[in-house]
Amino acid sequence: MTQVRLLYFSRATRDMSLSDLKDILGKARANNDSLEVCGMLCYENRYFLQALEGERSALNELYLDIAEDPRHDEITLISYCEVDSPTFERWKMGYAAGSAEFYRLLKEMGQTEFSPAVMNEAQALSFLKLMSGNQSGI
Ligand code: FAD
Repeated sequence: MTQVRLLYFSRATRDMSLSDLKDILGKARANNDSLEVCGMLCYENRYFLQALEGERSALNELYLDIAEDPRHDEITLISYCEVDSPTFERWKMGYAAGSAEFYRLLKEMGQTEFSPAVMNEAQALSFLKLMSGNQSGI
């Protein structure tokens, strides 16, 4: 089985409440568990940045479903590559938002606002990895 990792960012179509985010994460975690997909999601400043990892065909199908979700648009693929082993395997979908650590890491990357549009693949992956160790508990 070919394992892949996909990174994308998107714009929320409206401000996401805690309840909206819980709804997305609840569904994502349940679906991803049965699809054997894992990953990490960040939300701040009306941007989503997400890593998805799993078997290629399951992941491709999931990405197409996610891309059609009316809660976001301007979906932009950052990278898609084969991986030997997943980076986010501990999380069916990890989650982090604008904590002090979140902004400290952004500052290290020279950003004052969360804007994944200016991140290259290495920066986006590194940010998601670091935030997977500093998650917001929802
Ligand atoms: P349902 O939950 O029954 O949804 C049916 C349709 O309604 C879908 O097209 C869905 O997009 C839409 N929908 C559902 N709830 C709402 C709502 N509150 N407002 C507007 N439209 C709605 N799903 C995963 O399985 N794994 C993920 O990792 C994942 N990540 C996501 C990341 C982001 C940023 C967003 C916005 C959504 C994510 N989702 C994820 C949710 C995904 O887009 C689908 O909603 C979900 O997979 C559909 O589940 P379902 O087939 O059970 O259908």
